[in-house]
Amino acid sequence: MADDQAVLAAKPEVQLTISDRIYLVARFGMTTALVTLFSLGLFDFRNAPAAGSELMFRMGLSLLVVGGVVHVVALFVFHTTGPRSMWLVLPFDLVAAGLLIWSTGQYQDPFYPWVLGLSIAYAGVLRRRSAWVVAGLAAVVYLLGHLVGHGHAAMLDVALLVVFKAAGLVFTGWVVADAMERQVHREEEIEAGRESIIGLNDQLGRRLAELHAISEITEIMHSSLDFDRVGPLVLEILRKVIDLPASCLFVIDKDKDETLFSASAGMPAAEAATFNPAYPLGGESVAANHDLFSCMTVLDHNRMMVVFCASASAIEKMGEEDRLVLQAVAGELVVAVENSQLYKLTKRLSITDELTGMYNYRYLQQRLDDEIERARRYSRSLSMLMLDADDFKGFNDTHGHIAGDVALSELGDVMRASVREIDIVCRYGGEEFSVILPETDSEGAFVVAEKIRESIATHLFADADGNRLVHVTVSIGLATFPGSAADKESLLRQADDALYQAKHLGRDRVRFPTTLRPKK
Ligand code: GH3
Ligand code: MG
Ligand code: MG
Repeated sequence: MADDQAVLAAKPEVQLTISDRIYLVARFGMTTALVTLFSLGLFDFRNAPAAGSELMFRMGLSLLVVGGVVHVVALFVFHTTGPRSMWLVLPFDLVAAGLLIWSTGQYQDPFYPWVLGLSIAYAGVLRRRSAWVVAGLAAVVYLLGHLVGHGHAAMLDVALLVVFKAAGLVFTGWVVADAMERQVHREEEIEAGRESIIGLNDQLGRRLAELHAISEITEIMHSSLDFDRVGPLVLEILRKVIDLPASCLFVIDKDKDETLFSASAGMPAAEAATFNPAYPLGGESVAANHDLFSCMTVLDHNRMMVVFCASASAIEKMGEEDRLVLQAVAGELVVAVENSQLYKLTKRLSITDELTGMYNYRYLQQRLDDEIERARRYSRSLSMLMLDADDFKGFNDTHGHIAGDVALSELGDVMRASVREIDIVCRYGGEEFSVILPETDSEGAFVVAEKIRESIATHLFADADGNRLVHVTVSIGLATFPGSAADKESLLRQADDALYQAKHLGRDRVRFPTTLRPKK
């Protein structure tokens, strides 16, 4: 059962065209009607002028029936449909028509409408100017039927009428064939117009998608100043409109030969970095090393340059529109990178001391909060030093404020050189400094404080004339969390108190808070 269904399903269905159906019904109707009329004896051949008219009629009818069988077999067995099936039965129809016309010449020309219909049908189905040839053949058959088969057709007036009607066949066939061909051209034009509208619609859809992608990218880029996060997102959106399996993008500061922004999608970041034209300088030489990848400069604007890399074939396939999209995105990228740089600079300036380039008081407070929180969470120690340059008023009075400024800046350098990378050196204000020492207990902090004190004491600072002859000393107060202070405020206060004691005891020394044993 299931197998039967499968066989039925596999059997291709005959796709009859409308002309197949009409022609099939017309032939069937015509044949049935003629056979019926002939069987009823309605055709009288007793007075026929030519001998053998009845035989001709029978042959004509037989040919019609044979033609019908050929038509049905062609359609339903060989699936030969449309004009091809009509060409197949045309000889049967034409010869049948000739024989029928020949045999019934005395009956007021009953088959003229049939040959006329034949020429019109072929012109309608073939839809070519050349279809008038069928009308010509029908006319020849019509002429032969009349003029060859019947003696009375030799009479001039009858002969003229027959010729005139045959000419009518050709003319009608020509007119219909011509009209049909015009119609075909019109339809082709309409189809071409429709296709071009579909093409335009597609293009419009693509443009819209590109605009949407650009606006999405712009929004993402300008909504975040933390630029590293948005790079891959930008490339992902680009991939929606430009067919790119893997790509990377660089924004390069040409003056500094520095990469300000880089992003990659569809490939590891390390691999993408090898395409970066900034390392080494010269995009071509780098790109040349990667046969399958190629890089192009999308934008070259003042000191900024945007370079885009993708597989060579993807870049080759990119159309003018794709390049415009890339350029638009590159333009936005440059503005966004500049904004981001400005933001980073502002952020850095807001936590930097102008004179010494050290972190400022604001940063000290922020970092102390963070470091105390961390020390509390992981039960670690944290120490801080408060430093004050000794008799710095005297330094200014002796060597001038400008030399004082230089000395303060150098103090910062000496301090930084004396501590670890993770220690945070800040200018607290005036000639006072702070050092945060994460993961450091009071003993460790004392060692660091002593190191700083000694480094400064042995450093020679420049006087007003630039001669390195001047000694500066510092007093240092030390406090430790959680050893001597339970929070930020008390830590600062303890360190300050210890500093005060160091001053009070004669300067150039390190002191713990009073609660702890002083080391010096
Ligand atoms: P001590 O701390 O040992 O008690 O004496 P001191 O003279 O250092 O202390 P004081 O608080 O009396 O004076 C601080 C001096 O530091 C006064 C001020 O001119 C100087 N000073 C503060 N900030 C700057 C600065 O930015 N540049 C210069 N050149 N001097 C500064
Ligand atoms: Mg002071
Ligand atoms: Mg001082």
